[in-house]
Amino acid sequence: MIVIGGGISGLTAAFTAMRAGLDVTVLEAADAPGGKVRSTVEDGYTLDWGPNGFLANVPDLLDLANAVGLQHDLLPAAPEADRRYLYWDGGLRPIPTTPGAFLRSELLSPPGKLRALSETVLARSVKREETVFDFISRHFGFEAARVFAGAFVQGISAGDARQLSVDAMFPRLRHLEASHGSLLRGLAAARRSARSASRERAAAGLTSFRAGGVQRLIDALTDALGERVRSEAPVRTLRRGVGRDGVETVVELADGSSMTSDSVVVATPADAAADLLQAVAPAASEALSAVRSVDVHVLGFGFDRIDVPYPLDGFGFLVPRGQKVRILGAVWSSVMFPDQAPAGKVAIRVFAGGTLDPGFSSLDDAAALAAARRDLETTMGIVAEPEYQRAIRWPRGIPQFELGHRERVASARHALAQALPNARLAGNYLDGVGLNDAVRTAKVAVRSLLPPGPEAS
Ligand SMILES: Cc1cc2nc3c(=O)[nH]c(=O)nc-3n(C[C@H](O)[C@H](O)[C@H](O)COP(=O)(O)OP(=O)(O)OC[C@H]3O[C@@H](n4cnc5c(N)ncnc54)[C@H](O)[C@@H]3O)c2cc1C
Repeated sequence: MIVIGGGISGLTAAFTAMRAGLDVTVLEAADAPGGKVRSTVEDGYTLDWGPNGFLANVPDLLDLANAVGLQHDLLPAAPEADRRYLYWDGGLRPIPTTPGAFLRSELLSPPGKLRALSETVLARSVKREETVFDFISRHFGFEAARVFAGAFVQGISAGDARQLSVDAMFPRLRHLEASHGSLLRGLAAARRSARSASRERAAAGLTSFRAGGVQRLIDALTDALGERVRSEAPVRTLRRGVGRDGVETVVELADGSSMTSDSVVVATPADAAADLLQAVAPAASEALSAVRSVDVHVLGFGFDRIDVPYPLDGFGFLVPRGQKVRILGAVWSSVMFPDQAPAGKVAIRVFAGGTLDPGFSSLDDAAALAAARRDLETTMGIVAEPEYQRAIRWPRGIPQFELGHRERVASARHALAQALPNARLAGNYLDGVGLNDAVRTAKVAVRSLLPPGPEAS
């Protein structure tokens, strides 16, 4: 098997194939595997420049971590991480998680609260695809959508709630709506049944790895795969060939060499997959090229604790648009994972850019860091010089699940199956943008290519 792309999707695909006894090679364009997963340890600060954790309440990534021997290095986020804030109307306001806190919250006006709480009686299930904004607005009212919907998707995909499909991004919400009508009733029922099914798993939240962040997973997978991973091996195109046993795929590398295989997993981002498949599966390529991705910036800072005049009692905060603050939000990394900053110091990661601020990605590092520091002053009152700062830009870093996304993905998969029956897609632009989603697509892709018999885990 050949796996194209050595991000978490490609490495998971290769690891799954290896464990099933297949001969597998990963071809990665960059000088190291990992893709969007990248963590550094510098000056005592551990900073995740891509994902900073995964949800351990589903098995996908957790099982993988256990399989590569990281079960003793799992690091659950501190309990404070359950508290999150919105920067709204000049201050950081807690996102309410209990009915009492909701009633006391300054985030909505009294009529806005009344409308949101009427959801249990007013909500109706509808069948047509909707944007996240329209869905939240229909359930909880326009005011609640204006405060929460944008921030909700910003924190996940740096996207615009008025363009993203709730059906593609949050199929579970749609499912709860279909089965309960009201989301509030549905969520309460789901919480009750999750608790009775597995108390431990229901409680499991954001999780990372000790001593090195999410990068530990990439390192463990890369070690397990050994020479099966080839870095600096960009693939140029795929062709259909005919071998002794029928159709095979010819993989042409940018250096002019080629390899053939009876099974291929394309685990690159959507735009790269569209390029690779242009000649061999034009309809799949066309569908994939319509999956847009947006640029995001991650700005990492290290401060002395005494220079941060804020209680730091949570995960961090998001900034709904229209609040005269440019950043999308900030994560108080060392509150969640105390080993990510030296004693007496604080690590903060700031996000900026995305669909609603495309200009941010054209700032150079110094300007991006300065813009982020201005907003940290406005939101958290930090005026001191950071003792550590660094910026990383992810061009087309996060895929956007806009209206019609599920149809685009279904037609890409279908067209690829017609053109190359033994090729599969894997990645976080297909069924969900997070690590668990990416890992799931990779495992499913490989299992569907295995000859009947061997079982992969
Ligand atoms: C800033 C940021 C924060 C995030 N935070 C979280 C989080 O907290 N939790 C979470 O669950 N998820 C988070 N995510 C999402 C998560 O990072 C992704 O779901 C995941 O890393 C995607 O992995 P992938 O392997 O599908 O794609 P990628 O990581 O993009 O890997 C694709 C690989 O393909 C390679 N490639 C491309 N073209 C070619 C070619 N022609 N030939 C060979 N190789 C090629 C690339 O070099 C790359 O290594 C975040 C993402 C970003 C950008």
